[in-house]
Amino acid sequence: MKYAVLFAMLVCAITQANVNILPTPGKIVPATGFYKVGAGAEIGLDGTFSNHWKITFQPLEKELGDEGYQLEVAESGVTVRSNTEAGKYYALVSLKQLEGLATDGKIPCVNIEDQPKYGWRSFMIDSGRQYQKMDTIKGLLDRMALLKMNVFHWHLSENDGWRVEIKRYPNPTEIGAFIANGLEQHGFYTQDDIREIVAYAAERHIMVVPEIDVPGHSVAALTSYPELTCTGTAPHNYSPYLYCAGRESTYEFLFNVLDELCELFPSPYIHIGGDEAPKKDWKNCDLCQARIKELGLKNEHELQVELTNRLAKHLKSKGRKAICWGDVVTLPGQELEDNVVIHWWNYQRSKDKALREGIRRGMKVIANPNRYTYINFPQKHPWRGYKENRLFDFQTCYEKNPGDIRHPTAGEAKALLGMGTCLWTDHNLTEEWLDRRIFPRAFAMAEQMWSTAQHLPYEEFRARTYARESWLSGMGIGGDWAEEY
Ligand SMILES: [Zn+2]
Repeated sequence: MKYAVLFAMLVCAITQANVNILPTPGKIVPATGFYKVGAGAEIGLDGTFSNHWKITFQPLEKELGDEGYQLEVAESGVTVRSNTEAGKYYALVSLKQLEGLATDGKIPCVNIEDQPKYGWRSFMIDSGRQYQKMDTIKGLLDRMALLKMNVFHWHLSENDGWRVEIKRYPNPTEIGAFIANGLEQHGFYTQDDIREIVAYAAERHIMVVPEIDVPGHSVAALTSYPELTCTGTAPHNYSPYLYCAGRESTYEFLFNVLDELCELFPSPYIHIGGDEAPKKDWKNCDLCQARIKELGLKNEHELQVELTNRLAKHLKSKGRKAICWGDVVTLPGQELEDNVVIHWWNYQRSKDKALREGIRRGMKVIANPNRYTYINFPQKHPWRGYKENRLFDFQTCYEKNPGDIRHPTAGEAKALLGMGTCLWTDHNLTEEWLDRRIFPRAFAMAEQMWSTAQHLPYEEFRARTYARESWLSGMGIGGDWAEEY
């Protein structure tokens, strides 16, 4: 018996070494022989492929969820079985990987059955602190497609800049998009740009979820409309400024912004932020204090929950869900609306409290703890404003991410919507740095989001990931493979 198990493991290890697809498919059964890829055979990330491939598509006779597929590579050709467009797409992405890593154009014959662990596999880019060009955003969507990530979380407002055109309110893009002075900190996306990105993402089976961060991180918006601050004057510096929650005009502005976002983004989810909102403004504001009294709230945190609930209710009336950073549940407060999803992030300060609170309250939770899914943090060496205590490398990310819950309790299984990774652009993390932050660590994130296969030992996972370095660089995709930064 022992030998049989060992033998099976050995066969499995050999197979996985030859059939290198990441994230690792749930089931890989080797077959004999090779499929010879014809010259000029390509698979595009928009789901198209050249007719040099001998591919047939068949219905799937098994339940593998909304994104599952079977991929059969035989000497005579390739068969893809799926009942959804997404499943078909992911089969082609797997095939693209096999083709990309093949030697002499020979793909080993194999039978693969695969479906993701989570339906929510998000990647966030912070376009607020730094503006990225349209081509850069498209490039990020291509990278996500290669990793089978399916939610592009687009952080579109920040202290340093407001990046989305809102027709009803010109000031955020005329003023707010240009308030910071750093490199790549000026610019915004027109509504046509946004539609172009949403369409480009849809071809890659990626949903775009926009974020407007409220009530903090909003200096760009509040510089554009100082009448929405507690004092009615423009902010002079960054962090403590909040939208005044005691003014009806704040709600009117935010509802109108959300209405335009709902028109631009078909996603069932809209992210309304809610993180890091120190309450000094609200403590000193007569209007905010009057609102607290009038509603019988206990404190300023409950006023933030009230504001969150009003925005969530507005989104609910439009059939959308509201995502909020975990800060809205890590302090005691009222219940949240039933369409609110918790985005668990602040592991460093409050460990898994946002997850636990989400479970206790019967809410959905996205696991995205800053340790270790914030891949803007450097790997090995302090860099600009990132100190020693923020470093984490590829191995740490793969082995120690508290958001990678492999054996969930019933409560965790019910609550977890999926996993996310974030690429913030603090400390002038300009475009030239993005790939060096993304690779190789995003492979670890993608593995944790997607793979239902047996967890590979780190050394093996590392080898399989690093086998892609030259393939990616051939596509113009960089990385920090030496883990220098
Ligand atoms: Zn106020």
